[in-house]
Parts: sequence; C-alpha cells; structure tokens
Amino acid sequence: MIPSYLSTDNRAGDIHLPSAHFSKYARRVSTPATAIRNRFRSQRISRFTESVIREMTRLAVRHGAINLAQGFPDFPAPADLKRAAAEAIDADINQYAITWGAKPFRDAIAGKYKRTYGMEFDPEREITVCCGATEGMVASLLAVVDPGDEIVLFEPFYENYGPDSQLCGATPRYVTLHAPDWSFDPDELRAAFSSRTKAIILNSPNNPTGKVFTRQELEFIAGLCQEFDALAITDEIYEHILYDGAVHIPIMSLPGMRERSILVNSMSKTYSVTGWRVGWVLAAPDLTDSIRKVHDFLTVGAAAPLQQAGVQALSMAGNYYEHLSTEYAARRDHIVESLQSAGFKCFLPHGAYYVMTDISEFGFPDDSSFVRHLITNLGIAAVPGSSFYAQAGGGSQQVRFCFCKKYETLELARNQFLKLK
Ligand code: GLN
Repeated sequence: MIPSYLSTDNRAGDIHLPSAHFSKYARRVSTPATAIRNRFRSQRISRFTESVIREMTRLAVRHGAINLAQGFPDFPAPADLKRAAAEAIDADINQYAITWGAKPFRDAIAGKYKRTYGMEFDPEREITVCCGATEGMVASLLAVVDPGDEIVLFEPFYENYGPDSQLCGATPRYVTLHAPDWSFDPDELRAAFSSRTKAIILNSPNNPTGKVFTRQELEFIAGLCQEFDALAITDEIYEHILYDGAVHIPIMSLPGMRERSILVNSMSKTYSVTGWRVGWVLAAPDLTDSIRKVHDFLTVGAAAPLQQAGVQALSMAGNYYEHLSTEYAARRDHIVESLQSAGFKCFLPHGAYYVMTDISEFGFPDDSSFVRHLITNLGIAAVPGSSFYAQAGGGSQQVRFCFCKKYETLELARNQFLKLK
C-alpha cells in the first residue's frame, strides 16, 4: 500500500489554514548580524581558527601564485589508479559501501600491512575505512577522548591536531621538537604525561619538520603510554616517503603497543590522490567498535568506487614505494638547493614532502609578513611557520615549503626565490 504522504490524493495544498493563523506568529524582528553570529557560534568552534594551510591555497589561487603551501602533487595520479577508479564507476560500484569499508579494500589493507610490517589485522574487526586520515583522526579522538582529558602533541605539529583535540573537548599539552634535528627532551615529554593523559598524537614521518622518529624514541614514547595508561594515536600518511636510509616503524608494532595504539593512514600521499579522501584506521576490536560508531554517524562511508581503486593501489609491488622515495628525494634536493642559494636556512627533512626553513636572513618582522611578500610580490605561496605552533611567537621566523611538485614548478619557484636576494 502506498503511504499516505506519497499518495497523489494528499497534496500539500489540501491543508488550508487561514492566513491570520500565520500572521499571529510572524513577528519580524531585525537582528544585527553580529548578534546572530555570537549566538550561533558554539564554544567548541570559537577555540580555533580556520586552517592556514587551506587559506594559503585560496590566496595562491587568487594571486595566481605557485602553490608550495598545501601538500598535494601538481602532477597526475598513477594512470593505473585513474583507470581502476573509472572502471569501478563504469561497473556500477556507485552506491554506499559497507560503512566501515568495502570488504575487498579492507582485505587489501590487511594484506599490505602483513607484507610490509608483518602485522596482522582482522578486516572484520580491526579496520575502518574513512574519508581521509583527517576523518580517521577526528573520529578516533571523538571515540576515545572525553572533555577534560589531555592529549600530548609534539610542537611544531600538523595544524589539524589542535582543532581535533578542541572538537572533543580535550586539552592539548605541547612538547617541543627542537631544531635543527627536531629532537625532544625526554624529561619534558615525561612531564607532559599525567593521570589526565588519554593519548599522544604521533606523526612520523613528521609534517612539517620531516623528522622520522627513531626506534629508540618510539620505545621511550611507548613506555610512557604504558606507564600512564594512554594511547598512541598515529598519523602515518608519509610512511613511504623516506630519505637518507630512514626507516618507518609503526609504534603499534612495538611490544605492548598492539592494543594501545590507533593507526591512522590514507591513500592521499602514497598514491598521489589527495582529493580522493580515502583513509583507514587500524585498532584492536574494542577500539575499532567505538571508532566505527563515530565514523558511521559522521560520514557513513568513503567513496565506494575509490575504495575499489584502492584495492589496486594497496596491492602495488614493493618497487612502487622505492620509486616514490627516490623521486621525492631528488625533488627535496632540488628545492633545498634553490632555497639555500636564495638565503634560506633549511632543516633537511628525512621523510614526508615538506621543508621547514629559517627566514631570519631576510629581516622580516614575522613569518606572516614574509609569506605575504612571497605571495603578492614573488608569486609563491608557502605556509607561515607559526601555524604549526600553539605557543605565542613559535615559528615566527620559520616558513614551510612543500616539494611534491613537477620539476617545472620547482624550476619556476627557483627563479622566483633568487629574486629575494
Ligand atoms: N597535509 C597537507 C599539508 O600539510 C594538506 C593538508 C590538507 O589541507 N588536508 O599541507
């Protein structure tokens, strides 16, 4: 039987109310825009500002500048993956995948972790596919953190982690990574942990510094997580972008950390598909249950045809990853050479595709005025260092450049940088 609301006999026009009935309630009050804004701005969003990285991309577009700000490639994604995505759409894989990820994709993820790290994950109970690592991180935090909990973050940090912590009502505790090698003081890290600590967020290879945490550092962090009954929530999206013999070790693979870690990753950087928004979260079954609940109500699921293409991506042969690192190492050397000849001091990255620089040579009062000059007068967008720091004054003489770009783009940038001299 057709439900009454679908029946053509029951059109909206059947309901007749006298217009007086409405006018009785229609009080028109003119409210100033600021009052509306103040009333309808939640406390949680008032605690952070918009993303500086994404703002720089908009500025780059507006000024027609070379975008060395937001970390995404300006060259095409691998042809095989583009074809796999197009074929998936053609094959009618266009409706919702299972909320926590299409089974073939979860199987491919499990297969890759087994091959790469010898780690076993049960695709049915320990893998959640989500809309990029960005959703993976926020869904994980919302699943495990309560208002009032504390989260330990290394500073400089990828700017999302601050707002992510605020969105779940947690208080971030910052621990400094000291230039030039971005080392941390173990006592300072220890002092940041307490009975209130719920988790540490660890991003290695690190954005923005290019630091790759060593086994010894990871073991120390793992020890603190166990001592203080905290989780390690890791963002490992640059796992395959490594230089100078650096090795990536998931902290989850260390003794005592399998049940105490949440590993977040995505296809974006490894397969040069940042716009696909396909990521995943690996965690023990109980943690995964909680994360899946949040993920389900946040987004239902990631794009089904792109998950299908992901099966092909995660099944790539080992030399794809070697090639990726070699390619980016050459681009790193290219940009570092250009920056140094223009007068920047570079902190050489050992992983990821950013280079943090020191701009004190140029005599600008701060990072923002320097970047404004770069964008408007030299046509190059970069990210002001301060956006990676919470403490006032942090990063005020630092600027981050990304180098996941065509040589042609890096060449153009080189010519512009030289004009700074
Ligand atoms: N991770 C990239 C960066 O740091 C892009 C971030 C984003 O905008 N999602 O630039």
